[in-house]
Amino acid sequence: MSASTEVLVDFDEALERYDPALGLEVHVELNTATKMFCGCPATFGGEPNTQVCPTCLGLPGAMPAVNGKAVEAAIRIGLALNCEIAEWCRFARKNYFYPDMPKNFQTSQYDEPIAFDGFMDVEVDGTTFRVEIERAHMEEDTGKSTHVGGATGRIHGADHSLVDYNRAGIPLIEIVTRPIVGAGARAPEVARAYVAQLRDLILALGVSEARMDQGNLRADVNLSLAPKGSGVLGTRSETKNVNSFRSVERAVRFEVARHAGVLDAGGKVVQETRHFHEDTGITTSGREKSDAEDYRYFPEPDLVPVAPSREWVEELRATLPENPTAKRARLQAEWGYTDLEMRDTVGAGAFGLVEETIAAGASPQAARKWWVAELARRANDTGVELAAVGVTPAQVAAVQALVEGGTINDKLARQVFDGLVAGEGTPEEIVAARGLAIVSDDGALGAAVDKAIEANPDVAQKIRDGKVAAAGALIGAVMKEMRGQADAGRVRELVLERLS
Ligand SMILES: [Zn+2]
Repeated sequence: MSASTEVLVDFDEALERYDPALGLEVHVELNTATKMFCGCPATFGGEPNTQVCPTCLGLPGAMPAVNGKAVEAAIRIGLALNCEIAEWCRFARKNYFYPDMPKNFQTSQYDEPIAFDGFMDVEVDGTTFRVEIERAHMEEDTGKSTHVGGATGRIHGADHSLVDYNRAGIPLIEIVTRPIVGAGARAPEVARAYVAQLRDLILALGVSEARMDQGNLRADVNLSLAPKGSGVLGTRSETKNVNSFRSVERAVRFEVARHAGVLDAGGKVVQETRHFHEDTGITTSGREKSDAEDYRYFPEPDLVPVAPSREWVEELRATLPENPTAKRARLQAEWGYTDLEMRDTVGAGAFGLVEETIAAGASPQAARKWWVAELARRANDTGVELAAVGVTPAQVAAVQALVEGGTINDKLARQVFDGLVAGEGTPEEIVAARGLAIVSDDGALGAAVDKAIEANPDVAQKIRDGKVAAAGALIGAVMKEMRGQADAGRVRELVLERLS
């Protein structure tokens, strides 16, 4: 069915007749040094097919071995999601053919996941939804196909395809929720908040870069509708690889409208995978979804079972970071931010950077001012993430120290940031090299004040006559003369001294 023939029902209207059920499957690409079952580097961006070996290429006779660091990360993720950790579990072969999967099966986990039965409390505008986690299991990523010659980059219309196996075998953790019911009209926001909070948790654990735009964190969004109050689960669609928080929300919203259209017309929702389109906000049909039995799962015979000792699990539990949601509330109180200031800080992706800047000595308000107002704008203008804007938290704290010490003012500080982005050295070096320091030396200031008085005799006369407010014009002239680098307070004193 193509998108154009679909009848969409208004979202609010749909929810008058149907209850939505969400399900989220999130793949997290771990940042281990090596792949899941071989010693190949797992780094991003290498020349195609240079980070491969007989094991991850699935050559005959090659034997896999489990990456202990990946198991450790899986257990820590499971614990952070309040899961039970299996005492004994195995890998399984998930059999299917796909050109970017050289073994013709994916080594995954089936009925014996490493972590299961957990939950995460998700906050949406002050209301808490408990999202139950069914499982978190270990598996490997596939390679990457590039379709060449078509207009869209998809396989349709391409004249040939290239395959890069560097990504084949990179460790993944797949986190699967139980059906999330009862969110009603808030289902799109709950889905978004769950993925956002999960990303925060993954970052706090330090087990992945968790960049959605680079595919380190990929969300599949399941949605179904059932007649309101029926308590059953309808047939679901699965929208694959949605790659931003906003898109997660939009995909849910669109699927609610689409499912309602199908059901209102007396039709049946097809169980299938769908693609989300960023530009239009719609989903289109992918392929009909196979049921698990079609994959002919069976235990992987080449790998030993994973049996983490309880001592190890408890050791790993002790390494868990503070829950990000609790931490945010604690720091908001500590920093004295309003809800709006906090939302802006988090929304700008500046939370961690602000925290580090404060740790480096800046006040909470100064840290927020530079990151959320000045540097976020630059990141936006250049289309990079805030962390990649070219300025570190320590440098922001150093610039603010120069402002507070009177060496520069806020306006000059912006020029120091220009220098930092251009790689001109430390803030102090940039102030010296660009000659940005504020002049408070009376000799230099006095000469500029005299010049301003001479150039503006009318203004000078007004001040002599007692109209002190007129001093602003002379101070402005001095500031202009000194390219904004004069100590304005001292200039005012000198003006009034000379004209009293
Ligand atoms: Zn390899």
